[in-house]
Amino acid sequence: MNITKSLSAFEAASQLIPGGVNSPVRAFASVGGTPRFIKEGEGAYLIDIDNNRYVDYVQSWGPLIFGHKDESIEAAVIDAVKHGLSFGAPTLAETKLAHEVVSIYNSIDKVRFVSSGTEAVMSAIRLARGYTGRDDIIKFEGCYHGHSDSLLVQAGSGAATFGNPSSPGVPADFTKHTLLATYNDIESVKKCFEQSHDIACVIIEPIAGNMGLVPAHKEFLAQLRELCDAHGALLIFDEVMSGFRATLYGAESITGTTPDLVTLGKVIGGGMPVGAFGGRLEIMQQLSPEGPVYQAGTLSGNPVAMAAGLAALQKLKQHSKLFSVLQKRATRLVEGMKAAAMEQGIVLQTDVRGSMFGFFFNTTPVHNFSDAAASDLEMFAAFHAGMLEEGFYFACSQFETGFICSAITDTMIEETIEASKRVFERIA
Ligand SMILES: *Cc1c(COP(=O)(O)O)cnc(C)c1O
Repeated sequence: MNITKSLSAFEAASQLIPGGVNSPVRAFASVGGTPRFIKEGEGAYLIDIDNNRYVDYVQSWGPLIFGHKDESIEAAVIDAVKHGLSFGAPTLAETKLAHEVVSIYNSIDKVRFVSSGTEAVMSAIRLARGYTGRDDIIKFEGCYHGHSDSLLVQAGSGAATFGNPSSPGVPADFTKHTLLATYNDIESVKKCFEQSHDIACVIIEPIAGNMGLVPAHKEFLAQLRELCDAHGALLIFDEVMSGFRATLYGAESITGTTPDLVTLGKVIGGGMPVGAFGGRLEIMQQLSPEGPVYQAGTLSGNPVAMAAGLAALQKLKQHSKLFSVLQKRATRLVEGMKAAAMEQGIVLQTDVRGSMFGFFFNTTPVHNFSDAAASDLEMFAAFHAGMLEEGFYFACSQFETGFICSAITDTMIEETIEASKRVFERIA
């Protein structure tokens, strides 16, 4: 595969942009190799500037559930652009999108739009703190909630400790209010509640996608709900990734646990920058200008972004069978790859939730971050490079989730499995 143009583009970008990228994971640092510079997307395909075509299992890290250049989203965006890019005043599109979100999510009575998932989570946590009048929060090791200061924490010595900053530039004073617990381990959460009587909220990815795909156990979420209620803390589901990806009606509809607040992003913007947070009425009423908790944004509810999101959600609602179709394809993909790996003596742990799929190069099941971290990263890197060479674009880290879009056909899935056989044969 000729990647001459990507090689020189990456070199030029690296002179001007730190690491050559505007979001670190794009740099291929954990798998080696050079990121492809993309000139175009087309349905299931990415096309790089050297004219190589790849079946895309990343889909902009989640947002593009209908694939690249979806006609109805594209038309909605073009129409919105013609009326102006931004007004800083209310538009009808905001109410329409809010109506969709509120009618889809049982737990959401009111919703506020922002421009990224990071903003959505940061604001939801401020709201939880304002509403409860408490400072501390509990998050789980391996869950990602955007790059705001108090959420960039790593485990201290042992789980259930106050977190240490995971990045220079984050004062320990900011992260000392963040307690870290172990995913799917209710005892570790109980310890946090014993350690602090000032817990405003527990935030969790109910279907974790940022340590690879690791869904929370139903029972665990039910116990979390009970603990939060017993201690007067709010439960926040961060569904920036899983929202409109795992199922239409949110993790609450498949886990049976109802959160107090939900954060959304990715699919909700249809490929444009949109985030959102919403929840119970009396909590959302605390938000400025209705209440005292401040939150704002110059481009929040941007009309072009709202148009894209609205087109995406309306299309999702019209295709009621979409999630089961995508789940079938995702399941066939990971089952096929698992069998292909097995033929070469390589063990994969796989899982699927709707259009999200995950596979770990790991001999034991993965329930939390330390399980995920024990995966064979060298093997993953070799797999990633091999598949890329074959024309299949997988996320460039073992700790990311794969995405099936509606433009991916059964034939493409079978071709992916065939290619994986060749790759596993080479790397075993
Ligand atoms: C992507 C993601 C975020 C951050 O969203 P951005 O739009 O990248 O700021 C937050 N939480 C989860 C669960 C995510 O997957």
